[in-house]
Amino acid sequence: MKIRLDDIPENGLEVTFSGDRNILSQALEHISSPVGVGVDPFIKGRLILRETTEGIALTGKIRASLNLLCSRCVAEFNVDRNIDLNFVVNRLSQEKHVDQETCSGEADEIIIEGFEIDVAEIILQELLLELPMNPLCREDCPGLCPNCGAMRGSGDCKCPVEEVLDPRWEKLAKLSKK
Ligand SMILES: [Zn+2]
Ligand SMILES: [Zn+2]
Repeated sequence: MKIRLDDIPENGLEVTFSGDRNILSQALEHISSPVGVGVDPFIKGRLILRETTEGIALTGKIRASLNLLCSRCVAEFNVDRNIDLNFVVNRLSQEKHVDQETCSGEADEIIIEGFEIDVAEIILQELLLELPMNPLCREDCPGLCPNCGAMRGSGDCKCPVEEVLDPRWEKLAKLSKK
């Protein structure tokens, strides 16, 4: 989802999208995302790009569903996020000082090098900012037993409770992510 600066008409450009599986997956490959983050087909949003004296104003709302892996039990789970976007985009060579006094709201400035705005990447960066460092499928997820690999306290695990990290656990975690 790249938008050429030339394609933005004077009265602004509206971009809407809904349910396209590929919108963020390409962007996800380009930026170093936390392990285990996947983007669900469900994403929709509406953006407005408009030329202003401070640069290209990019505003809008996004609703997205992300697939995460629990950092304790490596189960997949989903989180939904609603994001408001409020940015001013400027080209590297034309970097203007965004005057916070006159700038409406608290738009963050984005500097781009070429003549295209990669909207998908901006959206994805914002989504990733919203995610916890160590995602949990639920607050009190007990995690996997390092001895038998079963969910702790699930009944499948009969091991005595001890806090020893077994190297096999790492292997199991990698396998589950595939
Ligand atoms: Zn979990
Ligand atoms: Zn066990």
